[in-house]
Amino acid sequence: MSSTAVQSDQALAALPPMKIFVDGKWVESDSKERLEVLNPATGKLLAKIPCASIGDVNRAVESARRASDDWCLTAPFERAAACHRIADRILAHREELATIISLEQGKPYFAEALPEVDETAENFRIAAEDVKRLETPIIPARDPNKRLFTFKVAIGTWGIITPWNFPTVIPSEYFGPGLAAGNTIVFKPAEQTPLSGFLLTQCIAEADLPPGVFNLVSGDGPSTGDALATHPGVDGIGLTGETSTGDLIQRRAGVKKLLMELGGNGPQIVLEDADLPRAAKAAAFGAYFNAGQVCCATERVLVDRRVHKDFLDLVVQAAKAIRVGDPFGREVDMGPMNNVAVLEKTEHHLADAQQKGARIVFGGKRVSGQATNMFFEPTVVDNVSPETLLNTHETFGPVVPVITVDQYDQAIALANGTGYGLQMAVFTSDIDKAFYFAERLRCGNVVINDTTDYWEAHEPFGGGGGTRSGYGRLGGRFTFDDMTHLKTVAVHVNPLK
Ligand code: NAD
Repeated sequence: MSSTAVQSDQALAALPPMKIFVDGKWVESDSKERLEVLNPATGKLLAKIPCASIGDVNRAVESARRASDDWCLTAPFERAAACHRIADRILAHREELATIISLEQGKPYFAEALPEVDETAENFRIAAEDVKRLETPIIPARDPNKRLFTFKVAIGTWGIITPWNFPTVIPSEYFGPGLAAGNTIVFKPAEQTPLSGFLLTQCIAEADLPPGVFNLVSGDGPSTGDALATHPGVDGIGLTGETSTGDLIQRRAGVKKLLMELGGNGPQIVLEDADLPRAAKAAAFGAYFNAGQVCCATERVLVDRRVHKDFLDLVVQAAKAIRVGDPFGREVDMGPMNNVAVLEKTEHHLADAQQKGARIVFGGKRVSGQATNMFFEPTVVDNVSPETLLNTHETFGPVVPVITVDQYDQAIALANGTGYGLQMAVFTSDIDKAFYFAERLRCGNVVINDTTDYWEAHEPFGGGGGTRSGYGRLGGRFTFDDMTHLKTVAVHVNPLK
């Protein structure tokens, strides 16, 4: 048996039972329906998970609501300690968690899955520290006998619905601040990568939180996800997913607090004075990290005509250096794509671009000789016109589409013209130009002289106002703004006689 097979077997053996987690226990789902979880690199069946029913969701939400009253009144320092215990348990299961992520998601174990687990633990630590400093204003009163205090208090019970591209780190962006602030949670992981969610839930179970504070229901979007989003006992929904899913949940959820982290179409803009080797390296990283399956991936490069040829040569060189293969290989940069839908979308966008005059200069097809046909070549496409799906839609594949521009304002119009506005990058050696762009790009985050894929765990991350990339902020103490509400307590003080 190979060492990878032993590692995989050990990680699969560490999984809890394929049940739902309600009221502090793994219990049978009352649904007979099971969903298959496949390894995209080998095509092998990893597990079958319950597709939780409306009854299961009801039980989970009731348990979370029962736990809510006490949990939100515990001292913040107690909840901080619980978050640190969760981080400890995550690190105790570090290799198993990373193995499960690579097995079901397909990302490289060494380059990406282990760092994802570390950031997952870090998100709980950051929340544990931030909650101790959640100071709020005392408001000067008009009435001399009044004192006006404000407190950040929990919203209540949240349904947290997450995607398959970062199966542990994205959930933890909600769980850390959410739990630290005194909320209770019902978690629905993505159906393509639920096993990471099961093991993450087991870590939380081992951290000894009061029963009901954290619950898991596995299943697909239209049944389990919808039951959670529409449940009247759920006070808030946190969704990270496609913009179309956000649209649907927004309509279905009714009056609930919503926190939406949706799609992106991250342009990287390369001006004539850019450090081109750095810009090319950043574009390749932004497009090929996690096989391009990242909300802030470099989905298109808008490059000044004067440096277009040099940039293109450099980016092709960088693409050639990407090693595609078994996610458990030590030297591997890119594994398979996660699922057939995202792979076919990538192919469809490339075919559309070619029809509209684009030229594939490197890659462009599935990799032969792998165990499955889920691997796609790192790809560079030139002469991409603004009318293509590569420019107007989120591709979510390992593709650098190059669009040539002649004027700064043309680049800004193209960057802002798709409706998406998550993270954008600008490469220039001139600080004045950097700010000209940063102040005009309509998005939540701008990166100067680094990849669109750059983020730090504690920075505020999310869609720009009025865009289709969502609203609210995930990251560090800023998540507390969305997962709490401000309660004012007015106190009447009698003058002493
Ligand atoms: P998706 O929208 O298909 O699924 C996300 C989650 O929503 C899954 O758990 C799914 O089961 C659930 N869901 C689907 N339909 C539902 C419904 N009708 N009711 C309730 N729940 C439903 O997205 P995906 O394919 O898993 O993830 C990729 C998308 O996520 C991309 O668009 C990407 O840009 C986006 N994303 C955004 C961010 C961000 O921070 N903005 C981060 C990561 C991913």
